[in-house]
Amino acid sequence: MQLQEQVIEKIRKSLDIVDVIGGYVQLKKQGKNYIGLCPFHSERTPSFSVSPDKQLYHCFGCGAGGNLFTFMMEIEGMSFTESVQFLADRANIQLDTSFSKKDFHSPNNQKKKQTIEGLELLTKFYHYLLTTAKYGTPGMHYLESRGFNEEMIERFQIGYAVDSWDVVTKFLQKRGIRLELMEQAGMIKKRGFDDKYFDRFRNRIIFPIFNMAGKTVAFGGRTLGDEKPKYLNSPESDAFHKGQILYGFHLARQAIRKSSQVVLLEGYVDVIRAHQAGVLNSVASMGTSLTEAQASALTRIADTIIICYDSDTAGVEASFRAAEMLQGNGKIIKIANMPEGFDPDDYIRKFGGERFKSDVIGASQTLMTFKMNYLRRKRNLSDEGDRLLYIEEVLKEMTSLTRAVERDHYLHLLSEEFSVSLDSLKKQLHQMSVTKQRREQRKGTVLLERSHRVPPAYEMAERKLLARMMRSREISDRIRDTIGGSFTIDVHQALSAYLYAYYEQGNPPDEGLFLQKLDDPVLQRKVTELSLMPMSSQVNDQEIEDCMKQVIRHAKSALIADKEEQRKQAEQSGNYELAAQMLSEIISAKKQLS
Ligand SMILES: [Zn+2]
Repeated sequence: MQLQEQVIEKIRKSLDIVDVIGGYVQLKKQGKNYIGLCPFHSERTPSFSVSPDKQLYHCFGCGAGGNLFTFMMEIEGMSFTESVQFLADRANIQLDTSFSKKDFHSPNNQKKKQTIEGLELLTKFYHYLLTTAKYGTPGMHYLESRGFNEEMIERFQIGYAVDSWDVVTKFLQKRGIRLELMEQAGMIKKRGFDDKYFDRFRNRIIFPIFNMAGKTVAFGGRTLGDEKPKYLNSPESDAFHKGQILYGFHLARQAIRKSSQVVLLEGYVDVIRAHQAGVLNSVASMGTSLTEAQASALTRIADTIIICYDSDTAGVEASFRAAEMLQGNGKIIKIANMPEGFDPDDYIRKFGGERFKSDVIGASQTLMTFKMNYLRRKRNLSDEGDRLLYIEEVLKEMTSLTRAVERDHYLHLLSEEFSVSLDSLKKQLHQMSVTKQRREQRKGTVLLERSHRVPPAYEMAERKLLARMMRSREISDRIRDTIGGSFTIDVHQALSAYLYAYYEQGNPPDEGLFLQKLDDPVLQRKVTELSLMPMSSQVNDQEIEDCMKQVIRHAKSALIADKEEQRKQAEQSGNYELAAQMLSEIISAKKQLS
């Protein structure tokens, strides 16, 4: 084994895939494996499976699959080398310098990597400036006056950009960072008149924006005084896509997993403040509209999501939209309730962390109560027409409640408030539910048909054989001697060839190791699919025989169809000799078949 392969093997053996993936996906044990909602496509019933024995994962819904390294690459957008480095760190394995120099990178990844390196360096630099009295006093004074404590300054690596045009530019130059990358990342700018770079952030508090893995990908800078703009943020770049980030996620992950609850805030200052108040499971969506990517990261990791946006009109609208995106995954969605006009930062500063925990987070409303209040705002309930419309809207929202107790509770509330008979409300709700179900069924059947294609028998036979071959060298040898490379499906054929070679080199049956030796992601995915395919632990010889027969049969029929085609062409072009030869070959092939 080469050095590199040894390192990868060592990392693979010292980490547990369930642990690593469990940081992103809520996994539940089912038999030998763990299952959860797939992080790579949106789904309501889990088809994402992780095998601790084989150290592999596979999604039977979208086909994503692989090992620890591919998981990190896919979920964090890392390159292969980055994933090795990241996981080596986690396993406390020292990487040899020759490893990091080896270049697997596409130019784009390379650029992204260098950008992140530059931003990580700047994080340390700004933080150093803030915490060094000679430079950081104005920044420190400001943070103290706003009540940020030292622990949070450390935890969130808050920094300070001194009031200078070139401190950062010179620092970057000295450290050999490519300036054009830092320009693209919005850290420095070019002067119009002499094309020289200058610092973009000056006399500002610097908040590093981290990606889910905790690397700095952007910065937010707040003025100390009244200069405009109050907040200056990095632009979107190769390294920074706002909609894919949940600010504070890497710091909150553990608390979220422990409580199975996550508090969703709007901005990074809210998160820092909430952590300081002891609400360690809070993250922010970096702006008001939640994206699909953020929503699925949230529903993947927690059972309860508490939305705590600003309590002004824009905040309430944003909460409503976020709730719509998050609901329907079987998760509990709640909305925290703050007095009008507050954001979490203001609230905590005014009333303290304990009251924030008990009166805001602790007293958060159910989604249904929130929706009822939301709909109420839009209607004038002293008007009879509006009242009826309101009742109808509330009933419509109630059709998504799954528990009877819940439905009853809100029906009672409606009935009491508007003096409508409970019976008629129940009837109307039932009617609406039926209509909704029918509509969903129509949509659902189409989806089902698409995802549950039943493969033809020969394809199933090929899959079963390959799955058995990966688990046993003897079976692989037997299949090689009988059918060799006669698999009809290209991917299967390629996989069988790799597998024969793999055993030839003296490797043991180990799907994880086999996958590690394949470069092609299509083949890798096939390996994970086949190794997580449910099958009996007992090998049934008769079944293997039958599968081989099926494969040979299909290969022969395909061959006959080929020869038929050649015969027709030969006849048309007047080559009767060839046509006759084809015909006799077809006849003997057909004989073999029967
Ligand atoms: Zn999937």
